Amino acid sequence: MNASPADGSGQIVVAGAGYAGLHAALRLTAKLRNHPQVELTLVDRHDYHQVLTELPRVAGGTRAASAVRIPIQDVLATRARFAQTEINGFDLAGRRLLTGAGPIGWGRLVLALGSRPNDFAIPGLAQRTLSMYSASDAERVWAAVSKALDDAAAATDPKQQRRLATVVIGGGGATGVELAGELAEVLPKVASGHGLAPGRPAVQLVEAGPTILAGSSPQLIDKATKILSDLGVQVRTNAAIAAATDEGFKLTDGQLVEGGVFVWAGGVKAPELVADSGLPTGHNGRVKADQYLRVLDHPEIYVAGDLASVTDPRTGHVLPALAQVALEEGETVARNLDAELKGRPLEAFTFHNKGFVVSVGTRRGVADIAGITSGGQLAHLLKDAIEWEYRQSVKHLRGWDPVPG
Ligand SMILES: Cc1cc2nc3c(=O)[nH]c(=O)nc-3n(C[C@H](O)[C@H](O)[C@H](O)COP(=O)(O)OP(=O)(O)OC[C@H]3O[C@@H](n4cnc5c(N)ncnc54)[C@H](O)[C@@H]3O)c2cc1C
Repeated sequence: MNASPADGSGQIVVAGAGYAGLHAALRLTAKLRNHPQVELTLVDRHDYHQVLTELPRVAGGTRAASAVRIPIQDVLATRARFAQTEINGFDLAGRRLLTGAGPIGWGRLVLALGSRPNDFAIPGLAQRTLSMYSASDAERVWAAVSKALDDAAAATDPKQQRRLATVVIGGGGATGVELAGELAEVLPKVASGHGLAPGRPAVQLVEAGPTILAGSSPQLIDKATKILSDLGVQVRTNAAIAAATDEGFKLTDGQLVEGGVFVWAGGVKAPELVADSGLPTGHNGRVKADQYLRVLDHPEIYVAGDLASVTDPRTGHVLPALAQVALEEGETVARNLDAELKGRPLEAFTFHNKGFVVSVGTRRGVADIAGITSGGQLAHLLKDAIEWEYRQSVKHLRGWDPVPG
């Protein structure tokens, strides 16, 4: 890699400080010890990293939004520069990111801009539902739920009360299941504070496919379904939403799902910004990568995390949009950038699946690890442990700063 900062070619720019981008930057900082000429810049619209896996707790009012925002300055070594600005586009030919703070030139770019909710062009969905893709989104869900409980308490007709105090969640993937479980456990406890009977609030989970947690083992699905049922969540499968209206979700079979709050957790796609960039994209607009995580036909750009369309050679399937995939990809990108600096061969990416853990409610969960399925308190403790370990790793990866003076 040519290292002459004036034209940007000595710059490594990491776009996005989420799971993939922050980890690529943290791991790279330590590796840059012997390359003082290389500048590393991390760019994000926020000056904090968001622990998205904890959002269902914010949306259920059991965790403050501030608790899932980790200030970048607390974890990034000063060896790396941080630019808080909105990325608005790409000048691929000129190798520049176009941002609110002006263009930022790169010699190597790491694209790690994550994903956005996908409304699959279902009419009314984007306007009528809340999403769950940031701490602020999750805060809005909890605020809407609290207001709906107040509105329900002010209503006199029990049917009307029930409708207003019902939270309807579209999408039975991990996010939908975690949110449904969290709310179903919390709402009866907070109802009286809003002047409602504990049994008045309700939670419904609406899934287009034949099962919740699609792609998981039948045992895990069974255990999660049982816990949700125990918590009183009404799960509707094979229930495809045709439109979201002021009355509620209209299903393709003509049924209407009524409620007071509607949340969409039905899938993700790449940010629009990337769709318009001219980069090669695949399913849901994700950017196609080679085995080294370089964008196809753009070897100077790496891509990682939800934005990356990476095919697992063992299964032939594109890897799912998951934090553990993003973290591993971020690490491989850091190692490959280091390899480029040292003139070494690049490393092909291999995903090491550590298992799947979903919390269902505030005390229980389900887990599939090494072929063993568990359900109950142990799985919930495991989820807590994974989140704790993640926070520790972010703190300890700070990297390296030159000794002053
Ligand atoms: C509610 C919820 C629960 C989840 N639970 C789990 C779980 O339990 N386990 C699991 O493995 N995965 C889970 N996931 C998925 C996981 O969070 C994602 O796969 C992961 O965040 C992807 O990491 P990323 O780095 O690609 O993107 P992100 O973590 O989303 O980071 C993208 C970053 O880019 C920044 N950015 C985006 N666009 C711009 C722009 N134009 N300008 C400037 N900055 C920009 C954003 O601010 C953000 O910091 C969950 C996701 C959600 C939403």
